[in-house]
Amino acid sequence: MNDDILGMYDSFKSSLLELKNKEDLETLRVSMLGRKGAITEKLKNLSSIEDIEEKKVLGKEINDFKKFVEENIVLARTNLTELDFLSSVEKSYIDITLSGRRPSIAAINILTKVEEEIISIFRSLGFGVAEGFELEDDYHNFEALNMPYYHPARDNHDTFFVSSDRLIRTHTSGMQIRLMKDINPPIAAISPGKVGRRDAIDAKHSAVFHQIEGFLVDKDVSFNHLKGLLELFCKRIFGNSTKIRLRPDFFPFVEPGVDLSATCVVCKGEGCKTCGYEGWLEILGGGMIHPNVFEHVGYDTNKYTGFAFGMGVERIAMLKYGITDIRMFYENDIDFLKQW
Ligand SMILES: [Zn+2]
Repeated sequence: MNDDILGMYDSFKSSLLELKNKEDLETLRVSMLGRKGAITEKLKNLSSIEDIEEKKVLGKEINDFKKFVEENIVLARTNLTELDFLSSVEKSYIDITLSGRRPSIAAINILTKVEEEIISIFRSLGFGVAEGFELEDDYHNFEALNMPYYHPARDNHDTFFVSSDRLIRTHTSGMQIRLMKDINPPIAAISPGKVGRRDAIDAKHSAVFHQIEGFLVDKDVSFNHLKGLLELFCKRIFGNSTKIRLRPDFFPFVEPGVDLSATCVVCKGEGCKTCGYEGWLEILGGGMIHPNVFEHVGYDTNKYTGFAFGMGVERIAMLKYGITDIRMFYENDIDFLKQW
């Protein structure tokens, strides 16, 4: 390489190291690439060289150096811009004497707390817990629960179908079928989880909500066992003075079926706005498992009887804590959740 150009590389590199600000950089740029800059002069002088081969070699060396200078000037400008920014932040924004902000700590959703409370009540009574699948098939959600395709009760379950056979479960009862097919009596289990229905969303309805369904099968299980269990459950969840009332109701997978009401948590049965001045609040449904269900799972109906029940977690949480709008559960408003 030409000694001159070699010297220019060295001096350019040391100038780069001495740059303090953008003005220095601009001076350096002009001294190299400006109209009277060192590189411009070198290129001009090329024309005076007569030997074509020499001219070609030197021309390439000058142009390589020019490219090197241009690239390094761009790089240096970026670095200086960053330094400028950092020093301006340091000067103007960071006040290390300010006290820090305490991060907001999340709260467990009240719905989760109520669900866990319900689960722990049934666990303490010997019930197992099986969560099941949110995507269910027609057989487990409907058919095996005594709701064949022509059954009108299917209309009450406004269903989200994913395909002709797959659906978002409308209740967690499908798990009863799966468990009974796998395990012989005695068996007692609850199945908590998310379910979906094509409901318009308002203060009382949500398209996705939470249910807990349970069942027990053994020899000589009677309706009294169901009544005793549910009464105990209501006393544990709503308080010891709670009374229950059972009225006939229809669910395809039980016979007889009942609707359970408990004394109003607000007025304790006196009558108030919450209970429509009746003193009672509907809590859950249940009944004795229908023989058709037992036939689907292969249980001997002469040998075994059983009961099943189901409840909405949102409903119980709303009644227990006086929450009037179901949508509050899903909004994750920290102020709302921290109340409990
Ligand atoms: Zn009331």
